[in-house]
Amino acid sequence: MDILAHGLWVGLGVGWLAQTRPVPRTLAAATVAMGVLPDLVHLLPIVAWAVFGDGTIDDIRRYAFAAPGLEPGMTPWAVFWSHHLHCTLHSALVAAGVTLLLRPWWRHVGLPLAGWWSHILIDVPTHSAEFYPVPVLYPLTMRGFDGLAWNTPWFMVLNYSAIAVCAFVLWRRRT
Ligand SMILES: [Zn+2]
Repeated sequence: MDILAHGLWVGLGVGWLAQTRPVPRTLAAATVAMGVLPDLVHLLPIVAWAVFGDGTIDDIRRYAFAAPGLEPGMTPWAVFWSHHLHCTLHSALVAAGVTLLLRPWWRHVGLPLAGWWSHILIDVPTHSAEFYPVPVLYPLTMRGFDGLAWNTPWFMVLNYSAIAVCAFVLWRRRT
């Protein structure tokens, strides 16, 4: 799914939860951040290549908005790190490992981890075999589920309509 919709869905989830129990602002912000970071962290090697190597700002923009197979030509190390960072943060196996590791601090990290999990679980069915399938079982396999690409126009309309309806319901419950 697109990064804005990820952030909005997690924000709505946190907003809903905040109506049932107190959610500190920092925890809410961390949860939304974890809901969008999987689509941002893999840009860091591209940014580093643009800042310290011979990449350009335009390369970052072209990479961020590229269609499959139309990414700009990049230096091999930037491609390598960007690819593996993207896979790592979209892997249910990695997320499960981190979740187990952080279990003793569940009270503090549970909500942000839920934000991360939401990103993975939403992305799996909203990418297709042709449109960046999510390597949900990385590093065991790079194969992903052949779902519906989130940029399908009718799905974009439906998704943002659902977000708007949920936001309205949440707002009505507050007032
Ligand atoms: Zn993603």
